[in-house]
Amino acid sequence: MAKAEKHVPCEREQHFLSGVINAKYDRQIITGIKKFLDGNAPQDMHDFYSRDELDAILALEGTDRDVLARMPVKITRHYFELAKTSAAIQTLVKASPKETFDLDGAEDPGKQLSFSPVEGLIHKYELGLIYVASTCSAHCRFCYREELIARKEIEREDGTMAPKGLAQISEIVAYVKEHNRLVAQNGGRHPESGREKLREILLSGGDPLVLGNKNIAQWLGALAEAGIESLRIGTKELAFFPERFDGSFFDMLDRFHETYPNVDLRMMVHFSHPDEFLRKDPNGNYMQAEGGGLEWIPVTQAAVAGLARRSWINIENQSPIIKGINNDPDALRIMQRELKRNNVENHYFFCGRDIVGHRAFNVPIEEAWHVLSESQKGLSGVEAHARLSITHYKGKTEVAAVTNTPMHGVPGGENGVVIFKLLRSAADAPDRAKVTIVGRNPEAIWFSGYDDRVIFDEAELYAMYGIGPGALEAAQ
Ligand code: SF4
Repeated sequence: MAKAEKHVPCEREQHFLSGVINAKYDRQIITGIKKFLDGNAPQDMHDFYSRDELDAILALEGTDRDVLARMPVKITRHYFELAKTSAAIQTLVKASPKETFDLDGAEDPGKQLSFSPVEGLIHKYELGLIYVASTCSAHCRFCYREELIARKEIEREDGTMAPKGLAQISEIVAYVKEHNRLVAQNGGRHPESGREKLREILLSGGDPLVLGNKNIAQWLGALAEAGIESLRIGTKELAFFPERFDGSFFDMLDRFHETYPNVDLRMMVHFSHPDEFLRKDPNGNYMQAEGGGLEWIPVTQAAVAGLARRSWINIENQSPIIKGINNDPDALRIMQRELKRNNVENHYFFCGRDIVGHRAFNVPIEEAWHVLSESQKGLSGVEAHARLSITHYKGKTEVAAVTNTPMHGVPGGENGVVIFKLLRSAADAPDRAKVTIVGRNPEAIWFSGYDDRVIFDEAELYAMYGIGPGALEAAQ
């Protein structure tokens, strides 16, 4: 595709953008480990890493197990305050030599780059994901975007190596318009890819909310003008720096809604653990709120309430289930209940991906399913909407069931089975809802952990391994 001209906002866009104000924020971020080493971090942060922890991390510097090169250290003051009383949050944000003990795994098991027609865009389904920022206010050690955040070189489809680039407005707008023109001209399907209209775009990164309001507004306006019907903003800022949800941000959203009332706005938020938004008493227990539920951290509750007050914004939480952070049914039960009570939908929990440098965080698929199922015991139907998702290269797949009893008479089902259901096929919508059934393997952290025990493969998740539907029966 030819390089697009610089994007020129139309009159309506300009009108929207003209009233948007950038505010200044003081996140008090500590970046890198050096300030902890030199004693230049604020006094009360000095003990965040012990001397032994720092020495162990430094001993790996420059080796292939360098945890700082794997993912740069970054933390806000707000998140540091939460970490002081939370082992889960410390695991989430503190660098540890454990991260690189096991470097097995694939570079890109979801084959994301196969779906990147333009730099900074992943186009799957009717949804596009764009990288608009290459950092967040703090860095999760388990992040799956660490190659973007750490600016690592990755192998492209053509075999060349280069860091992942960010999306450019002009290029994305040109792509959306051209894709949707061809879809309309071809009766609702793209003539080559077979995909439908690109209706939704997720602004992602990194975290779009590290950008100024004007920059975010430029994206929103340009994409709305390009015909995008739903815009999502993926952010963990409610956990890292909830003060970001200030009057200037809400003014920008209000102006956007006034200008483009038919464009949906969805905030895809990322709480991993209730310690990120609930107050604790001096004994470390959550506090009962007057009138029911638990007490929230006021600034976080105000930010969520500001979003929820705007009925045209959907707020959806999604989080991976991560070892040592939230593979805890009680924590997830509290989180789901409290989020729903505060108008945040529980959208997805994710299985970790089998990416190089993530073994320290990966919870096996079957354990993740049990953790989520246990967490949802005692929740009402509306509180327990979340499903457990795992991203196959074919598309988003639900871990729909894990049986605890043998499936008698079904070869391969002697120890029980796992049922995957294809939620969305990246290329082909009609594949939706097809299932794959495999014999259990409690150690499996990825689909490949079942490639020797496929029982039924209607969804063709194992076609890549040359195992087709009925292949096992044929082999009996
Ligand atoms: S907020 Fe998301 S993108 Fe940012 S470091 Fe954490 S997991 Fe990665």
